[in-house]
Amino acid sequence: MPVVIDLEKCGKIAECPGEGLCIKICEQGALIEKEGEIVLVPDNCDDCDLCIQNCPNQAISKE
Ligand code: SF4
Ligand code: SF4
Repeated sequence: MPVVIDLEKCGKIAECPGEGLCIKICEQGALIEKEGEIVLVPDNCDDCDLCIQNCPNQAISKE
């Protein structure tokens, strides 16, 4: 099951304390930047949960 991104908690990538950390750590390319915000590519997500564990804003979870 792919992750869910709370865009209110995330905010703009430019304001991320980790400077878009989730994009950097997702080895599957499932998290990409679009117009300054995080966009999930669900088909690419392999459920590794690394982004959930490392997001400084706790903006990524599973439903
Ligand atoms: S690591 Fe968290 S706060 Fe930073 S861009 Fe990704 S989802 Fe947003
Ligand atoms: S759970 Fe893993 S594969 Fe899925 S978006 Fe997060 S870091 Fe990428």
